[in-house]
Amino acid sequence: MRLLVVEDEPDLRRAVVQALTEENFAVDEAADGAAGLHKALVWEYDAIVLDIMLPVKNGWQVLEELRRQKTTPVLILTARDAVIDRVRGLDGGADDYLVKPFSLVELIARIRALIRRVAGQASSIIELGSIVINLSNRTVTKSDEAISLTAREYALLELLALHRGKLITRTMIYDHIFGEDDDSLSNLVDVHVSHLRKKLGAELIETRRGQGYIIHD
Ligand code: CA
Repeated sequence: MRLLVVEDEPDLRRAVVQALTEENFAVDEAADGAAGLHKALVWEYDAIVLDIMLPVKNGWQVLEELRRQKTTPVLILTARDAVIDRVRGLDGGADDYLVKPFSLVELIARIRALIRRVAGQASSIIELGSIVINLSNRTVTKSDEAISLTAREYALLELLALHRGKLITRTMIYDHIFGEDDDSLSNLVDVHVSHLRKKLGAELIETRRGQGYIIHD
């Protein structure tokens, strides 16, 4: 899953990006509202963490302009614990908010819940035959046996599973799994798919030649 963090305070931005990266999200960052809006419009993020008090364009402006074009889930960060802020945020098209200071653990939990909610996935468990994916702790079992996946393999499986029944193109995979700073050699989707098939069964992921991949419901 790929995220964008728009936050102008360098220490906070660094801490958030690091925490999310450690959770195996691909994370892009922006230090002001204009740069954040540009990235949000160019890339397909699974969710955006958007500070409100930002230079160049503030978070409200970013949200307003983003919502004219895209429905990317947005979690706003607000320094002021004012009811009017939250109401304005949720009215203005934000999907969730956190009041500063917040715990990184809560931020991560909220982002995961947000991504699940938008995918129409109420439960944190996805069952695909004998394969069970736990989205909360990112574990996978097959016939009750724990299966060890790399971060990339898990991210790819999660993306296909959250959108099961739908064709996921290679472009979508690149957009959602890899951050803008990822080196291209580690980005070989075919290799990750082949590893997933070895670990979880050849029938799990169908290849649509020239189009992409699909996990059937
Ligand atoms: Ca700020």
